[in-house]
Amino acid sequence: METLSTLDVIVRLTYLGAAVTFVLGLHMMGSPRTARRGNFLSAAGMAAAIIAAVVYLVSGEDPHLHVTTWGWVALAGGTVVGGLYGLISARVVEMTAMPQLVSLFNAVGGGAAALVATVDFMDRLAYDQSSMGAEFTVPVTLDILIGSVTFTGSLIAAGKLQGWVPGKPIVFVGSRLLTIVSALASLAAVVWVVADPTLMGLLLLVVAASLFGVLMVLPIGGADMPVVVSLLNAFTGLAVAMAGFVVDNDIMIIAGALVGASGSILTKLMADAMNRPISSIMVGGFGTGDGPADTSAGSGGEARLIGVDDVAIQLAYAEKVIIVPGYGLAAAQAQREAGDLGSMLEEKGISVYYAIHPVAGRMPGHMNVLLAEADVPYTQLKEMDDINPEFETADVALVVGANDVTNPAARRQGNTISGMPILDVDHARSIVVIKRSLGHGYAGLDNELYTDPKTGMFLGDAKTALSDLIAAVKQYAD
Ligand code: NDP
Repeated sequence: METLSTLDVIVRLTYLGAAVTFVLGLHMMGSPRTARRGNFLSAAGMAAAIIAAVVYLVSGEDPHLHVTTWGWVALAGGTVVGGLYGLISARVVEMTAMPQLVSLFNAVGGGAAALVATVDFMDRLAYDQSSMGAEFTVPVTLDILIGSVTFTGSLIAAGKLQGWVPGKPIVFVGSRLLTIVSALASLAAVVWVVADPTLMGLLLLVVAASLFGVLMVLPIGGADMPVVVSLLNAFTGLAVAMAGFVVDNDIMIIAGALVGASGSILTKLMADAMNRPISSIMVGGFGTGDGPADTSAGSGGEARLIGVDDVAIQLAYAEKVIIVPGYGLAAAQAQREAGDLGSMLEEKGISVYYAIHPVAGRMPGHMNVLLAEADVPYTQLKEMDDINPEFETADVALVVGANDVTNPAARRQGNTISGMPILDVDHARSIVVIKRSLGHGYAGLDNELYTDPKTGMFLGDAKTALSDLIAAVKQYAD
């Protein structure tokens, strides 16, 4: 039986405690009321696990570990630089740029997991080939496969979200065939390395999987990015869990499995919200506008511009108003004004609801977070399926910085958002859209809602427009 030193026992107990905080934290993140505490609890557990791992490393009790002086310098340097970068970037990032940051973190997580496996593989190949049985090569190859796909795929996703890589689907002649070939080559390399661990097999695996990551994300259209980002998040978790098997670290296995599982659930939710099969992401088949061409034009009319007084009168004399927030509300940081307008109308006896589309904004739950920040009561927030039947009886649908999630073009074939369920804003008796121009949304499509005869465009920055509206409604209410 294995005898454990006191330090061994303390480290293992710390890992166990950390695992409990991860599970509890995830559970608490299920409700906006407890989410913040849940996040803090899990972060504290992770901090304790990292400290335990470092103490174990420094103690020299691990018989397999031989760290040179330069190894220590690199370890300390990497920890300080990486830790500082993570701390500063998370503090200064704008809420609207959060998805890019999440994508970068996915890339770093997947890349690090793949590097851990690669180093271990090369080490054993050079010094200890007898230890390269299937119990080692299977997790190593899966780690390198998933980690490499995640690394390059997430970099392309971050580039698309940041606007450095065109957000529109990038498809070239033979690209789909190349995607399938790189996927098959990656799988062949896995089989090769498991059967016969060689450097050539490893190289093929890294190159083919990295290429597949790029080709998988390039053809994804802007509107479908939420699905791919959450899928890559799940991949990061799986890669880290595999790395845990490679280096025999329980907490990496548990944390990786939890991220993998929660990322997979989120991917399913996002894919359902977009009405897309997950399988088609892998071969680059959606968001590209495939299918019969979109020949039916929209209403083709001209947009009608309206002023603050017109909007204020419509709101002041309405019985039911549905506010539809979108990315523009986040960009303008106008959540407080949206909340204030809603409570002011409620005080006048008008029923007010906020329609939440699952992919509105730039991250899952973006609108819920913003409106919770503005103390909008949860009872007024209605998810898409609950609010859609309500539009028909709404006097005014007030769209604030939302675009793609309201675009009726999604109901037709042959464009980049075809099939995506939208908020049925056009069913309302009257529609007011607040945004700065008549320009398109994230998917790059013009919105035919703007030329609907029922729609009035109230152009301006969301924060300023809502403030002006609050002042004007007050005037009509008095
Ligand atoms: P969109 O990104 O489609 O449109 C937002 C609109 O806001 C723009 O048309 C813009 O128009 C307007 N806007 C920008 N800044 C301001 C401002 N300061 N004041 C007023 N308006 C402003 O938003 P939606 O929320 O409708 O859709 C989200 C899109 O993002 C979907 O395609 C979704 O798939 C995608 N996505 C979602 C993610 C998620 O997890 N939720 C992640 C990644 C992508 P103008 O410039 O004229 O003002």
